[in-house]
Amino acid sequence: MSTVRIRFAPSPTGYLHIGGLRTALYCYLFARSQGGNIVLRIEDTDRTRFVEDAEDDIVQALEWCGLEVDESPMLGGPYAPYRQSERQDLYRKHAESLVDSGHAYYAFDTSSSIAELRKNNEAYNASTRLQMDNSLTHSEEVVRMRLESGEEHVIRLRVPENVTVQFNDLIKGSVSVDSANIDDQVLVKSDGMPTYHLANVVDDQHMAITHVIRGDEWIPSTPKHILLYQAFGWQPPAMAHLPLILSPTGGKLSKRSAQRQGIPINVRDYRAKGFEPQAVINFLAFLGWNPGTEDEVFELEELTSVFSLERVGSAPAKFDLDKLGWFNAQHLRRLDIEVLLERVRPFLEKHGMIVEDDYLRDVCFLVHDRLQQAQDLVTHFSYCFVDPVTFDPVGIRKRWKSDAASLVDDYAARLDVLRSFNEETLEFKLRDLAASRKVGAGRIIHPVRLAVSGTTAGPGLFALLRVLGRRTSVRRLRNAVTRLG
Ligand code: GLU
Repeated sequence: MSTVRIRFAPSPTGYLHIGGLRTALYCYLFARSQGGNIVLRIEDTDRTRFVEDAEDDIVQALEWCGLEVDESPMLGGPYAPYRQSERQDLYRKHAESLVDSGHAYYAFDTSSSIAELRKNNEAYNASTRLQMDNSLTHSEEVVRMRLESGEEHVIRLRVPENVTVQFNDLIKGSVSVDSANIDDQVLVKSDGMPTYHLANVVDDQHMAITHVIRGDEWIPSTPKHILLYQAFGWQPPAMAHLPLILSPTGGKLSKRSAQRQGIPINVRDYRAKGFEPQAVINFLAFLGWNPGTEDEVFELEELTSVFSLERVGSAPAKFDLDKLGWFNAQHLRRLDIEVLLERVRPFLEKHGMIVEDDYLRDVCFLVHDRLQQAQDLVTHFSYCFVDPVTFDPVGIRKRWKSDAASLVDDYAARLDVLRSFNEETLEFKLRDLAASRKVGAGRIIHPVRLAVSGTTAGPGLFALLRVLGRRTSVRRLRNAVTRLG
């Protein structure tokens, strides 16, 4: 059997979005699980929608997630070039060969004449084939003259009449379409650029692609591609269309619906928001696939060894931001502390916090399991770096009883003279104070926590005090006594 060759073929019309990354991931997982190769091909033939830095963004997004490719515009490879704008001659040549074989024709319609045709053709509706026939009726001679005179023209596929176009999708099963519902597709536009359909098919053939894995939205294009393969006399690759991604409230997850629901749409936004790349990957893997076991937390390499297209479902998959948060917490927990330090630094810097490595390491050890995202360190645990300015009012009502001030003040006095400031002695001193004042330990623990952190929940109190250190702890305890009375 020939080596599996997969391509991820984004158009640089914008930054890589989360749905595009899911496609890239499935392409990658399938290629790697089959011991095959993966190609990054940039489909940049639509110059009207071209975005200058989109290609860089795509490459960086793939790198961020660890989705390494084998061939690409930057890496080169045996089928270079990998940017369609650099392969135009190939497409033109193939389009002309289709004209010669009678599978395509020159058409002199313009966008305005097509609009006119659609308007005039009352019988036309979306499911009825629109055949541009203005040149079909012309003799070869007339066509040649019009071409020679430099008249604007396109090349269209001559869609055969009354045939059923069928293909077996590895995920959706058999798909068939009546050719009466397929327009005579433009293959080469009037600016000489190939359309997506032509370039995509020619490249998949020339790059020896064995499987096309792409989003559900490309299903309507596939019958057109099948016709092109047939016209060229080529064997089409296997097709696999991934299930639709739904927004949490149903309906396709689009830029708009995502925005409305506070879902980041571009991969770079996930990165900026402090999501772990492994968590994003893990989450996306489950948007349409499952391992058939209870296991949920996987890193990329682990996914590669369990992934199979057979376990990709055809039902739409719902995007659940809370689930992503859960995956993120799981993967943050797996991070080495030094890597975690790198992750949280930018957020500290953004808030103007300058923190020494040793101290930051202690804090990270303390709250590692409590972070859902790296920036939680700044948003939820700012008290590890700055004295609390407010105290949770519910906490005050519940925990700051009439004797709180004097208990906390006493505890502060004991800490101030404590010889070794470690968890054991911190706890011993607190319990000792509780015993001597004849109160339960909780009567001191809760107000102390409130005093040093401003909140009533968090990591183990004695570990927190140890990390904060004597000076900070004592200062905060005394401050709270003054402020809360
Ligand atoms: N260039 C298309 C895109 O932007 C590729 C579709 C395909 O994989 O065939 O997604």
